[in-house]
Amino acid sequence: MPPLLDVTGLSKVFRLRGPNPFHRRRLTAVAAVDLVLAPGETLGVVGESGCGKSTLGRLIVGDLAPSAGTVRLARRPVSAMTRKERARLVQPIVQDPRATLDPRWRIGALLAEPLVIHGQRNGSADRVREALASVRLPPDIADRLPHQISGGQAQRLAIARALLPEPRLLVCDEALSALDAAVQADIVHLLRRVQAERDTAMLFISHDLDLVRHLSHRVAVMYLGRIVEIGPVDRIGTRQSHPYTRALIGAAPRIDPHRRRTKRATLEGETPSPIDPPPGCAFQTRCPLAIDRCRIQVPPPVRVGPGQIVHCHLAEPAGRDHPPLHRLAGD
Ligand code: SF4
Repeated sequence: MPPLLDVTGLSKVFRLRGPNPFHRRRLTAVAAVDLVLAPGETLGVVGESGCGKSTLGRLIVGDLAPSAGTVRLARRPVSAMTRKERARLVQPIVQDPRATLDPRWRIGALLAEPLVIHGQRNGSADRVREALASVRLPPDIADRLPHQISGGQAQRLAIARALLPEPRLLVCDEALSALDAAVQADIVHLLRRVQAERDTAMLFISHDLDLVRHLSHRVAVMYLGRIVEIGPVDRIGTRQSHPYTRALIGAAPRIDPHRRRTKRATLEGETPSPIDPPPGCAFQTRCPLAIDRCRIQVPPPVRVGPGQIVHCHLAEPAGRDHPPLHRLAGD
């Protein structure tokens, strides 16, 4: 089956204005990202703040134009679609949705708007009521204005609004972070149900590794704009191979509470600036295993297990009888 989402060589470089107009600096937010997503599949995207996860999400929904590479949705380049065509295929859910809600419109009208745009006016009142109920919002909220609802209610409204046009892909950027645990559990249940019924794919960007584990089939780990490791969620949770993934998972003990703890990998030092990234491997300034080659060459992708790809010069291809990287790290 062809992938629903096909991302190839995707990069985004922002040119920054400085005090000297002849010396523009370049900030590389996303660098050479390749990924595919099947219908009905959820890919979790994790990494420290500023690693490029949100920029990747905005590139995929067509909110930003790439500096290089392509994003294809249902085999068509997103850059060639009209806004309406894109909205039928992909809907974003952002962490702070208030900026996207027109303060003069009542909640009911805001919810019905995507249906009207897509010519689905018939029965829209019933669908709006159902959408409110699905995210546990009371029906009378439809008569209120955006400033009359709480932040958590605005977040649930944004989720209902994104689901109404029945997109084939949802790009959730920290979409559940502001919700309390009970509502989070409800929304996770709702997203899973929608996914099962409609075969909706999801890109789930989050700093919450436990949530990512619950919702995702596969996980991509980003560092300084690059995907450094990607694979099935159980392998990333327990058999991660990249030194950065090991440190990131080590810093978040909830991803696998049953795992026997040995020596925990830790992250030392600061993430380098994306304005002046290091040559070679992006992680070389913090990596305890770095060798000379890491400071010169960008590591190529290596398949280390079923569906698991790692960008590291020390990674051993699947099938070879070598100790895994974490053994080299001293665990
Ligand atoms: Fe560390 Fe080198 Fe692997 Fe990068 S390529 S993660 S610096 S060992």
